[in-house]
Amino acid sequence: MSSTTQDPLVGALLDGRYRVLRRLASGGMSRVYLGHDDRLDRPVAIKVMNSDLAADPPFLARFTREARAAARILHPNIVTVHDQGTDPDHDAVYLVMELVRGGTLRDLLRVRDRLSPAEALAIIEPVLTGLAAAHREGLVHRDIKPENILIDGNGRVLIADFGLARAVAESSHTTHSGMGGAVFGTIAYLSPEQITKGYADARSDVYATGVMLYEMLTGFPPYVADNPVSVAYRHVNDDIPPPSEKLPDSPGELDDLVIDATTRDPLVRPADAGQFLAMVREAQASLDARDTAVPVPPAPPALSSSTAADHDTDDDQDPPADERAASTLPTDDEDEPGRTRHVARAAAADLGGPGDPVRTHAIEDSDAEQHQAPRRRRRRWLVPLAALLAVALVAGGVFWWVQYGRWTTVPDLSQASSEKELSQAADDAGLAIKLEQAQFSETVPEGAVISTDPKSGERVVRGTQIQVVLSKGLERYYADSSSIGQPATDVISDMEEEYAGRVTITQTTAYSETVAKGAVVGFSPPAGTAMAPGSSVEVTISDGKEPIELPDVTGKSPEEATQILTDAGFEPTVSSTQEFSDAKAGTVARTDPPAGTLAQPGAGVAITIVVSKGPDLVEVPSVIGKKTADATAALEAAGFTVEVKTVFTTLDLVADQSPGGGTMAKRGSTVTITVV
Ligand code: ADP
Ligand code: MG
Repeated sequence: MSSTTQDPLVGALLDGRYRVLRRLASGGMSRVYLGHDDRLDRPVAIKVMNSDLAADPPFLARFTREARAAARILHPNIVTVHDQGTDPDHDAVYLVMELVRGGTLRDLLRVRDRLSPAEALAIIEPVLTGLAAAHREGLVHRDIKPENILIDGNGRVLIADFGLARAVAESSHTTHSGMGGAVFGTIAYLSPEQITKGYADARSDVYATGVMLYEMLTGFPPYVADNPVSVAYRHVNDDIPPPSEKLPDSPGELDDLVIDATTRDPLVRPADAGQFLAMVREAQASLDARDTAVPVPPAPPALSSSTAADHDTDDDQDPPADERAASTLPTDDEDEPGRTRHVARAAAADLGGPGDPVRTHAIEDSDAEQHQAPRRRRRRWLVPLAALLAVALVAGGVFWWVQYGRWTTVPDLSQASSEKELSQAADDAGLAIKLEQAQFSETVPEGAVISTDPKSGERVVRGTQIQVVLSKGLERYYADSSSIGQPATDVISDMEEEYAGRVTITQTTAYSETVAKGAVVGFSPPAGTAMAPGSSVEVTISDGKEPIELPDVTGKSPEEATQILTDAGFEPTVSSTQEFSDAKAGTVARTDPPAGTLAQPGAGVAITIVVSKGPDLVEVPSVIGKKTADATAALEAAGFTVEVKTVFTTLDLVADQSPGGGTMAKRGSTVTITVV
């Protein structure tokens, strides 16, 4: 086959055991071949590190690490690593793994605009099952993306390329590994913490899986920009939008899954693939999508690229016909490695794989590179070198920016004594200020800074808004002297509002000769006293004037009596009916209520002044010479009480009477008669 002339490794027998049959794919650092294990007589996939990199110790170390890491886990959803070795004769550092007959999730996404929610979940579920097993082992993949998800012809999903995996125990060192730690992995799926801190753990894989879920549902990764710095920046500064933003019909369950898995704060994310898996299974159950079959990629990308020959205008990418056949992935019905599956090829053409504008991926680029005409081969190294240089520059730039360039330190703002000084200080540091609600402080003077968030000395991204809390000074409350004499209900409700429960308000009442009933007499402590939170103030409310005994105005003229009572604070009225009394006619006989009664001046107590008609006088009849009984009857009929004095009782005649007949005496008074 002419492919042998293209790739010197094809046909080689590595370490006398693994036969390299043909190339399946080219990754950034390696090529993957279909091979045969002659000792165990079984087909295998062989990943061979690019020869120029094989000499580079860090890359070599990474390759070896991958082998060891991946070999630690045996799981149906993880590509099994069988062996690893170095063949000096062929200058090859290689990895032998289980052969997966199928394509990648990327191949599937190339021919499908997007997947249905049920299909996407059917793929995510086994991916997470495999990842959960790795996480349980303490292994983090670090580079989950559609290119690294393989799907065989039966719909089995396998995670490939544990190339960046490291034991979690080691990951604390990755911050110091510079570019290697921070920017390896593919920027579209890189979690914020990988970008800013160069740190990856199980939750970073959850993030990447969430991004991949988003891409399966919508057909695009969430952030598409022409430079990786912008994409990295958005991962750090933006939240991945819910898929329903693009596809309004997308079910809420999937929004939730994407949002949860791609939360920027790793602590809020599902802790590992196992936790996320449980959520995915719940979503599958609630969408009734548990039995959905995994969609199978119609053909591997190498195959699509060969059928594209008719349409593809880029001559550089157009391989010779036999070369195209040689670069296809093996399929299930293929027992001999040399055969290809033309049905699948045709299907790929139908589904629009070739010429599809989305096809801009490294595998094809490398394929193109492999298919250069021989005369151009000598300069082949230029392409990867330039590419590497570009990647290194961009990565270095991203790394510098995310690690250093965009950071600044929060200055000490506590010295600023005015808002102007404050914003000046923040401005100088490249930061913005946001004044929060000012707070009371027992220690920080009014107008000075109590606290900032983030705090002084903290490292923050330039342009960050620093939230500043200024002091309102001491928290003190006052009662207002101008409230005295004001209606207490108004005053107290104002105080309640002002104190907001910080100072307790109590009430008491007292008589006041000066403040009207219901108005404020005073405060205790007095108005103007500074009151700290927790203290209390007593409001004294006037109960009106103190009650006094009504003065006795009997015998005074009605005018004089009215004056006296009015002066005492009452509102007397003079009754129109007069009555007999001992008082002189025309003077005051009595008041109602009577003199001596306690009454409150100013309280509107009704006091009536009754004027005297003078005493009630009746003429005493003369009863001298009358029989005792007749005399008594006559006197009683005239309105008198009779007292009988007997000297001796022979005659039974009245001899004397007092007062005498014809005089005027008070009705009801006693008339004494002397009987002989
Ligand atoms: P890289 O580190 O270069 O990304 P990968 O392990 O991801 O290497 O492999 C690159 C490509 O090779 C994959 O996208 C897939 O197309 C193919 N591939 C990898 N492993 C296998 C395998 N075990 N069986 C079949 N094809 C494979
Ligand atoms: Mg890969």
